Amino acid sequence: MSGIYLHIPFCKQKCHYCNFYSLASLKYRDVFVSALLKEMRLRENYLPDKHINTIYFGGGTPSLLSTGEINRIIREVETLFDLDSQAEITLEANPDDLSPRYLKALKQNTNVNRLSIGVQSFFDDDLEYLHRVHDGNHARKAIETAKQTGFDNMTIDLIYGIPTLTEEKWKKNLALFFDYDIPHLSSYALTVEPQTALEILIKKHKLKNTSENQSVRDFEILMEKTRQHGFEQYEISNFALPGFYAKHNSTYWLGGYYLGLGPSAHSFNGFSRQWNVKNLKKYIGAETTEAIVLEKEILSEQQRFNEYILTSLRTSWGCSTEHIRHSFNAKYEAWFLKNVRKYLEQKKVVQKGNNTYVLTDSGKLFADGIACDLFLDEE
Ligand code: SF4
Repeated sequence: MSGIYLHIPFCKQKCHYCNFYSLASLKYRDVFVSALLKEMRLRENYLPDKHINTIYFGGGTPSLLSTGEINRIIREVETLFDLDSQAEITLEANPDDLSPRYLKALKQNTNVNRLSIGVQSFFDDDLEYLHRVHDGNHARKAIETAKQTGFDNMTIDLIYGIPTLTEEKWKKNLALFFDYDIPHLSSYALTVEPQTALEILIKKHKLKNTSENQSVRDFEILMEKTRQHGFEQYEISNFALPGFYAKHNSTYWLGGYYLGLGPSAHSFNGFSRQWNVKNLKKYIGAETTEAIVLEKEILSEQQRFNEYILTSLRTSWGCSTEHIRHSFNAKYEAWFLKNVRKYLEQKKVVQKGNNTYVLTDSGKLFADGIACDLFLDEE
C-alpha cells in the first residue's frame, strides 16, 4: 500500500491549539498549486513503485482550494503515477467551506470520494475556545449537505478535554455524531502544544487550562459509546464501522510508504524519512528536490524497532513478535518479551493468539508511556 499526502498550507484563521504548518492568508494560492505540481514531478520516483492506493489532501485547509485546483492535482497524480481504480481520495474540509455549491462541484468535477470534516464540537462555546472559524450550525449543515450530495464515506473530527466541554455536552456531541450515521470518527484529546496561542493564553490566564482528569473521563466515554454503537477502535484515536477503516492513515500505521508533498510534508519509502521545508516562500521558489526536502533520515534498526512499537501498540492489529522476529535482530524480540511481561500482569496489555500483543482499555490510557518503556535505548 502506498499513498500520496498533499499539504495545503492555508487557513482562514489560526486555531488556538494548532501547531500544523499553515498561513492565515490565501495570497500565494495560485503559485502554490503550480509549485505542488512541480514537486510532484521532481519526486515522482521517490516511492519504490508507482502504484498509489490513496491520496490525502490535508493541511491547513484543503477545502480552500477550488474544485478545479483539486481536480488539476488529482489529474497530475494520474499522469505521473499508477493510481488504483479503487483509490481512496480524501479531502479534509472545514464546515464553513462546505456550501451546497462547493459540495456539488466537488462531487461532479473531482474524484474525491471521502470527506474528513473538522467539526471538533457541535457547541459554539467550545468552538470559540478553540478559535475555530465555524460554529455549531455550520457543522450540522455541512454534514447534512455532504450526505445529501452523496458523500457517504465520511469522517469527522471531534476534540475532547476542552475545558468548556462538560460531560453532558461530550455525550451530546457523540450522540449527534451517531445520529448522522457517519461511518468513521477521529477523536483526539486537546493538548497544549508548545508555542501555540493556546499555551500563551493559558499562561496569561485568559483561557482555562485543560485537565488530565477530564481528558481521561472523556476518553473512557468515547470508548464506551463507540463500542455500544458498533464502532471498532482500530487505532487509539480512530473509530470505524466495519469496512470503513481509513486506508490512507492505515498505511502510516502499518508501515506502508507515502510521498508527502507541500511545505512541512513528511515522506517515507522504507529506507528514509524526509521532511519538506516549512516555509511557503522557500517552497514556492524551490527548483530542486534538495531545496524542498530539508531533512533526510536513514533509520537505524533500533529506530525502526522503536517506531514499530509506538505505532503498532496504538492499533487493534497490535504488536507482533512474529514481525519483530522477521524484521529485527534476535535481541529485539527477547527485549520485548521480557519487558511486556509487567504490562500483561497489570492487565494493560493482552496477548491475542501466539504472537500478538494489544493494549487493553486501561492500557490505552497510558499508550505512549508503555511504548516508551518498551523502546530499546541506545547502548
Ligand atoms: S483549520 Fe486545522 S490546520 Fe488550520 S489552524 Fe485550524 S487546526 Fe490548524
